Amino acid sequence: MSKICVIGTGYVGLVTGACFADLGNTVTCLDVDETRIERLKQGIMPIYEPGLEQIVLQNVRHGRLHFTTSYPEALKDAEFAFIAVGTPSGVDGEADLQYVRQAAEAIADIVDHPIIVVNKSTVPVGTGDWVAEVINRRRAGKPLEFSVVSNPEFLREGSAINDFMMPDRVVLGSLHRQAAEKVAQLYQSLRCPIMITDLRTAEMIKYASNAFLATRISFINEIANICEELGADVREVARGMGLDKRIGPAFLDAGLGWGGSCFPKDVKALAHMAVLHGTHPQLLQAVMEINRNQRRRVVVKLRKALGTLDQKVIGVLGLSFKPNTDDIREAPALEVIHLLENEGALVKAYDPQAMENARSVLPRVQLVETPYQVAEGADALVLATEWNEFKQLDFEQIYRSMRQPVIMDARNLWNPDQLRAMGFTYFGIGRGNSV
Ligand code: NAD
Repeated sequence: MSKICVIGTGYVGLVTGACFADLGNTVTCLDVDETRIERLKQGIMPIYEPGLEQIVLQNVRHGRLHFTTSYPEALKDAEFAFIAVGTPSGVDGEADLQYVRQAAEAIADIVDHPIIVVNKSTVPVGTGDWVAEVINRRRAGKPLEFSVVSNPEFLREGSAINDFMMPDRVVLGSLHRQAAEKVAQLYQSLRCPIMITDLRTAEMIKYASNAFLATRISFINEIANICEELGADVREVARGMGLDKRIGPAFLDAGLGWGGSCFPKDVKALAHMAVLHGTHPQLLQAVMEINRNQRRRVVVKLRKALGTLDQKVIGVLGLSFKPNTDDIREAPALEVIHLLENEGALVKAYDPQAMENARSVLPRVQLVETPYQVAEGADALVLATEWNEFKQLDFEQIYRSMRQPVIMDARNLWNPDQLRAMGFTYFGIGRGNSV
C-alpha cells in the first residue's frame, strides 16, 4: 500500500486516482478548480465516464480516496506525485506545458521528503528532463531527493476504468531504474506486461501510438473515398483486411475521422516536434489533411443532395467525439455543424450525454430532447456519433416527420438497403454503390 498524490482530476487524473485507491493505496487527488473539488467532495462527478462514480464513491467511503485543492495537504508524505494535468495545443501546434510547469513548481516548493514524480500527461519528448530541471532550479541551494518517471496513459474515454484495470501494457521510462521499478510495483497486481525503458523513449511511445491509430483511421477513410468512386464497400474491405493477423480489425472504421482531446493535439504536437528538429513529417501531415477533408466531404454531399444548404434544417445526431463520453473537444460533429452553419443551414441536435458541454460552444444550434425531435421538419439527418441508442431508431416515424427524407450516415451505422426501401435518400461513407 502506497501513499499517492494525483495532480489534476480530469479524465486521466480522476480515473487514475480512483483506480489506485481501489487497488488499496491511499490517494489524494488535487485540482486547482475549486468547484470541481467541492463537487467531488459531494460525490458529484465532473465528467461522464461509465463506472467512475461507483468506484469513486466506494473508495471515498473506505477512506482511501480524498480530494483537495491544497498542494501541502495532497503532497504530505506522498511517495508518488502523479502529474495528470492538461497539455493542450499551443498556437503553433506545440504542446502547452504551462500546467505541467505549475505542478512541477508546486512540488519543488512544498515537498521536503524523497518523492517520485510520475508524469502521466502526454508531453513532448524531453519534458521529463525539463521537469527535473524546473524542480532543481526552483530548489537551488536546498536540493530535493526525487526522480522523474514517465508513465504515459493509454486509457480511452468511455472505457477508462476497464482500460486502467486491464491495460494491454504499462510503459515506464526513467533515468533511474529503481524509481521506475517502484512505480511498476503499483501496477503489479494488474498482471499486464510492464515495459521499463528510458524517459524519452517512453514519452515517444505515447505519441507514436496515437499517431499510428490516427493513421489507421485516415488510411481507411482514404480507402473509403476511393471505394465510393469505384463501387466497393469499405466496411467489407475493412473486414477483409482485418482478418489478416498482420493488420487486425481495430481502428478501421471509415467515418467522420478522428477527434477528441488527444489525437488531434498529439498528432499536431508530434509533427511540430519533427519540424522543429529538422525532419519532414509528411505522413503525419497527410493524416491530418485527410481528417480535415473527411468532415468537408459530408457537407459537400449534403449540399449536392439538397441543392443548397442555405436555410435548410439539418438534424445532427450525436455531438460527443465518440460514444459513451460527454467530451466534445475537437468532436467531428462540431466541425461539421460549423461548416453547415457557415453555409446558412439551421442546425438541430441531440446527444445522450454531451448537450450540457455543447450548449456554450453551439449558441446557434437548437438542442432538443430526443432523436425524433431532431428529425422533425428536417431536410436532412446526419448521424455524427454512433451512440448505441441511435442503432435501432423508429425510421417509419422519422420518415413521416422529416421535410425531406435525406440521411447522411457519417458512421456507417445503418442499413442502406433497408432505408432506401423505406424511401430515404441514403448517403454513407465509402459504401460503394450505396453511397
Ligand atoms: P482534463 O482537461 O480533463 O483535466 C485536466 C485537469 O487538470 C483539470 O481538471 C484542471 O483543472 C487540472 N489542472 C490544471 N492545472 C493544474 C495544476 N497546476 N494543478 C492541479 N490541477 C491542475 O485533461 P485529461 O483529458 O485528463 O488529460 C490529461 C493529460 O492526459 C493530457 O496530457 C492528455 O493528453 C493525457 N491523456 C488524456 C487521455 C484522455 O482520454 N482524456 C488519454 C490519455 C492521455
